[in-house]
Amino acid sequence: DEKAQAKVAGPKTPEKKKDQKENKKNLPDTPPAVITDSRRGMDYRRDRLLGEGGFARCFEVYNPDGELFAAKVVSKKSLSSARMKSKFLGELQVHKTMEHPNIVRFKECFEDPQNVYMILELCNNKSLMDLLRKRKFFTEPEARYFLIQMLGAVKYMHSRNVIHRDLKLGNIFLDEDMNVKIGDFGLAALLIDGTERKNTICGTPNYIAPEVLFGKDEGHSFEVDLWSLGIILYAMLVGKPPFQSGNVKEIYQKIKVATYSYPANPPQQISEEAKDLINGLLSPDPRNRPTIDQIADHAFFRAGYFPRQLPNTCMKAAPTWN
Ligand code: ADP
Repeated sequence: DEKAQAKVAGPKTPEKKKDQKENKKNLPDTPPAVITDSRRGMDYRRDRLLGEGGFARCFEVYNPDGELFAAKVVSKKSLSSARMKSKFLGELQVHKTMEHPNIVRFKECFEDPQNVYMILELCNNKSLMDLLRKRKFFTEPEARYFLIQMLGAVKYMHSRNVIHRDLKLGNIFLDEDMNVKIGDFGLAALLIDGTERKNTICGTPNYIAPEVLFGKDEGHSFEVDLWSLGIILYAMLVGKPPFQSGNVKEIYQKIKVATYSYPANPPQQISEEAKDLINGLLSPDPRNRPTIDQIADHAFFRAGYFPRQLPNTCMKAAPTWN
């Protein structure tokens, strides 16, 4: 699976590798069959394992009313280093204030002696990366549908001075009605006001904006999320991200010169409107990227069918419209 992962998701930064190595041994054991939030006197029954990440395991759980949630379980052992602790606390702090239909809802957080538990809205249809792996590419109508929902969520975050900084297909989940839910606020930054600049290098190699890698003193801001949306749109239509290589240094080099191309034999015809929007979002100078409102107004959204809902059958195959 490591190979399949590298193909769609790309290689990991040395920092991420280090975190994962540090934490493989610290992934939590299977938690008890009943997880208790003793402060609120609430029991959650544990059901199937939903997935494993760098430092968390996620289980489906339900409360006494039978309501389903996702419980993200993090072992306290993995929070022993100051770096992981601050990453996790940052994630909690930002995520719990986010309330939007296209952002994974954060319900509550509690702990027992072994673990910390985050109770989240359940996203039954996994991430867009899982789906893209199965489907190979999305049609333009699907891409319009996914992108407009992402835009709504990103507009909301930015209006609250939050930069996500790690938007990628693997962090975009789907609920059972095929609604987009942005999750994983592990790298999000809450700016004091809209003019603060950030200087930390973070993100996932394929999706990192050039100003994060090469910006000297000027730092980076909201526009890094728009760059990531450009990468996401390209990847949805072509099936892989534009700056691709097995080697992180090479990817950074490609991002620096911002040259990318479309495969000679793309899996589908890609419209000029889609290419124009991708081109704008992947502007090396962040000031040249379109604003969120300009993106939503772009000709791409009028260049063909724009579904307001997606049938569940797209989990298996490209939908046909009639
Ligand atoms: P990490 O922060 O350690 O990378 P993730 O947040 O990526 O952990 O979660 C690990 C896995 O759990 C994900 O790949 C996904 O399969 C699953 N998962 C995470 N959040 C949810 C959710 N809200 N609903 C359903 N599955 C989820």
